[in-house]
Amino acid sequence: MTKIHNLGFPRLGENRELKFALERYWRGDIDHAALHATAIELRQRHWQLQANSGLDFIPVGDFSYYDHVLDTSVMLGVIPERFGSSRDLDTYFRMARGQASDGVPFRACEMTKWFDTNYHYLVPEVDSNQQFSLSSSKLFDETRELQALGYQPKPVLLGPLTWLWLAKTTSDFNKLDLLERLLPVYGNILQRLAYQGVEWVQIDEPILVLDLPNVWRNAFELVYNRLQSCPVKILLATYFGELGEHTSLTCKLPVAGLHIDLVRAPEQLTAVLDNFANYKVLSLGLIDGRNIWRTDLNAALATVATVRERFKGELWLAPSCSLLHVPIDLEPETALDPAIKPWLAFAKQKLTELEILRLAIEEPEAAEPELSASATAIRSRRESGLIHNPAVQAQLAKIDNSLTQRLNPFPVRREQQQAKLNLPSYPTTTIGSFPQTPEIRKARADFKRGLISEADYVRQMEQTIEFCVREQEKLGLDVLVHGEGERNDMVEYFGEQLDGFLFTVNGWVQSYGSRCVKPPIIYGDVSRSKPMTVRWSQYAQSLTDKPMKGMLTGPVTILNWSFVRDDQPRSTTAYQLALALRDEVTDLERAGIPIIQIDEAAFREGLPPRQSRWHDYLDWAVRAFRICSSGVKDSTQIHTHMCYSEFNDIITSIADMDADVITIETSRSNMELLDAFIDFNYPNEIGPGVYDIHSPNVPTTDDMIVLLKKAGERIEPDQLWVNPDCGLKTRQWQDVRISLANMTEAAKVLRLAAG
Ligand code: GLN
Ligand code: ZN
Repeated sequence: MTKIHNLGFPRLGENRELKFALERYWRGDIDHAALHATAIELRQRHWQLQANSGLDFIPVGDFSYYDHVLDTSVMLGVIPERFGSSRDLDTYFRMARGQASDGVPFRACEMTKWFDTNYHYLVPEVDSNQQFSLSSSKLFDETRELQALGYQPKPVLLGPLTWLWLAKTTSDFNKLDLLERLLPVYGNILQRLAYQGVEWVQIDEPILVLDLPNVWRNAFELVYNRLQSCPVKILLATYFGELGEHTSLTCKLPVAGLHIDLVRAPEQLTAVLDNFANYKVLSLGLIDGRNIWRTDLNAALATVATVRERFKGELWLAPSCSLLHVPIDLEPETALDPAIKPWLAFAKQKLTELEILRLAIEEPEAAEPELSASATAIRSRRESGLIHNPAVQAQLAKIDNSLTQRLNPFPVRREQQQAKLNLPSYPTTTIGSFPQTPEIRKARADFKRGLISEADYVRQMEQTIEFCVREQEKLGLDVLVHGEGERNDMVEYFGEQLDGFLFTVNGWVQSYGSRCVKPPIIYGDVSRSKPMTVRWSQYAQSLTDKPMKGMLTGPVTILNWSFVRDDQPRSTTAYQLALALRDEVTDLERAGIPIIQIDEAAFREGLPPRQSRWHDYLDWAVRAFRICSSGVKDSTQIHTHMCYSEFNDIITSIADMDADVITIETSRSNMELLDAFIDFNYPNEIGPGVYDIHSPNVPTTDDMIVLLKKAGERIEPDQLWVNPDCGLKTRQWQDVRISLANMTEAAKVLRLAAG
């Protein structure tokens, strides 16, 4: 018999109930009991929903008040000393958010991206004499909660090796040395779950899709040999990619079952079947847990049939990974184009697809109507006139080297830009956005709701721009920006004006803690019907003699922060975006904007889990950026911005983008991250952020001089720009004014010192 199961469900609730409860709790508006009640309500609702889809096993332990990696750390008793000895929920939140308790500030745990998703986890911190002890009953309590409803629980546990891999060490030692102390706690957990009547436990080891050093590969055998003695069945879950060279090792581990991702890595199936034993359970991840497209069920059934020819053991079907990465329910999205809505499936619909798949295997005839409905939807998408735009196709076909190169190399451009812009050394600028005041938000919201006319809205935005320009002039900045008041979000703003995009009302996905994003859906060929930002930049430039910097979000970032169509390579969609943005870039130039910044905040996060695939990604990602940025004259200066500076491994690609100026984040690492730029001898100009906009602190002139001097040791001073490390939209004007005044002062001091 074929079974169906799920690897994890979104936590926050269809209407982001948990988000609002958490934020109320943090503000002190509700107490612990009320927060707890919301959590129970959501868990039960989600379990019920999964049970209604006929799942044979329901995941438990996937719920979290903030993050499942943090939950795991707390369960293992790994709480950095600075958080004190108490083990309550508030300690947990302090680890996540770092806010003060009794006036004592705590540095939060670091947060970083979960593999190549836009979900952020809290980085565990371990030291060389780290002790572990079973320190939370959350998983056991929730398992009991689910059992009380009469369902078959499948507790989900982050595997010891993945947890350890993700941890950072506070001193220099081999993390794997901790396994001997860590494993007994995992053993304990499994024992207790067995005692509670649990049959199957899902242990997630997604690092099995990464390149692993040999010692880590070997550790898998050690760990799972050891855990084998626990009286539960282990389903080892892998996702986000292929097992690759770990296939044989993974298939031979002494566990009762293995889950593989056949959406991201369908090609791994043959190798897995070559190595897999019939006495184990094989779980096929056939439904895309990372994207919102309806599954081609007939294709999925064909895969099952292929598996069945060779594998005679027990088969389970599942989404490719946890459904954490997709919105919950498509049904309430009544505003979606009725022609397109049937192409989509959110978490709830994906579970229904699983149910149909099982039915199609068990009772083919009974599944007939559902299967043909699915086939119709798939066909309608493939054949729809809505997704194909012949003009875009024609442009794509014409992409050649002439479209990916500036007219002349950087040294030539630099001279022309210098002649035109006449900037001082250590030129000062900002990253684009200025504080988003309540008035700006209100104007945008009122306009969206039709409460104010377009003319009124434009007038208000122009006032905001004028205010920003005057403030920047007073501060003495060299390159000004219009302030981005019109933008709610750096991707949504462009998506809304481009063809080929679709927006949901409630399609929220957790980004971190209570924070959600609502990624746009790219369903068809992307094109631009009219300029998107030109009026704002042009107006801003009309107010001042200082150079105005136009501000766009780059093709790779728009791609990486959207749900992207899966019927063509991602690179094709990236090129379409690039072509559309290229027109915007040249329109800005034509409108007299001398500098244009193309933000690529999400450039790095698109890197595939396996290094062997980096080259391919970097190749088309850089190409997309160049398509977008190369249509201008030599004298037009192209900037790009990235909110990080871990460039060591991709510095050649960053240089290949050939932006005239790149602004990056570095202030927190004390400019150390700039080392990548020394060894490589980066050819163009760089603005290493000297003002950490994520911190509430106002940087002093001296702070910034120190940072700039450090930067000057690593990069030629005539390559340096002076700027904050990201946009200022989340800050307050009073802080921004002082910080930027200090920043321009720092630049002046350095200019004087240089003579
Ligand atoms: N130009 C954007 C801003 O200043 C850049 C944001 C980002 O890098 N995340 O807000
Ligand atoms: Zn940034």
